[in-house]
Amino acid sequence: MAEVRIAPLIDEDCFEIGLNHLFPSADAARLAGEADWLCPDHLDPSMATVRLGMKSWLVRAGGRTILVDTCIGQHKERPRHPAWHRRASDRLLRELSHAGLAPTDIDLVLCTHLHADHVGWNTRLEDGRWVPTFPRARYAMSRREMEDWRARARHSAEPVNHGAFADSILPVVDAGLALFVTAGDALAEGVTVEALPGHTAEHFGLHVDRPQGAALFCGDAIHSPVQLLVPEWTSAFCGDPDLAIATRIAMLDRAAHEGLELYPAHFRGAGSLRIRRHGGAFRPA
Ligand SMILES: [Zn+2]
Repeated sequence: MAEVRIAPLIDEDCFEIGLNHLFPSADAARLAGEADWLCPDHLDPSMATVRLGMKSWLVRAGGRTILVDTCIGQHKERPRHPAWHRRASDRLLRELSHAGLAPTDIDLVLCTHLHADHVGWNTRLEDGRWVPTFPRARYAMSRREMEDWRARARHSAEPVNHGAFADSILPVVDAGLALFVTAGDALAEGVTVEALPGHTAEHFGLHVDRPQGAALFCGDAIHSPVQLLVPEWTSAFCGDPDLAIATRIAMLDRAAHEGLELYPAHFRGAGSLRIRRHGGAFRPA
């Protein structure tokens, strides 16, 4: 089995969101006495606010150089989301450069799903036009999710998906760079698309075989380590909450039993984790 190299590329850290804004059904009392290890990195000590990051994962595996998700991006019009609106930061590209790579070195981008905070760096602004940031890459995505956004855009006078469909998804489709994939597709030797539905209809994970145990890049199937304690809390942004919960519990169970290492999009810091069962829930291993 070939060597796999993985590095986080951080676009934003940290951003805060109210516990009950992120998880509408959350009751902080359920964390009492259990949450010390989450504070202050992932949860403020009053337990009212969750602390998250935004990262892409750089994965070198099977002879390919892959980015999993592309975060918020730069210069995008996001008037309903002030922290993302006309954002100047180029941190993600600088982190890519620190990893010794240029945008032209990326040959595959996997969009776990098409939310605005996962596709932003798909494109960059050049002479007033949105062009693919990674011009040699194919952008793997769900055809169903792309077509869903296209249909919504057709029937809406307002920009859909915070404007991300028009400025971050359509330009790579129109450039012929979209690679429509489905669960089970192999993208390289030992690199497979996996179904993790619920957050969105066809949310994908990327499963990568490694000698030291497999890695699963799991996007928004889990948003915060708070959900290890209560996997039933699901985000306000999950399209099908019941399915998102079932997918998360099944994924965490597998990770605990198979030694699968999880690489989510929104955990802070190094941001990957191995976990173990703890009563009816989970803890870091
Ligand atoms: Zn999302």
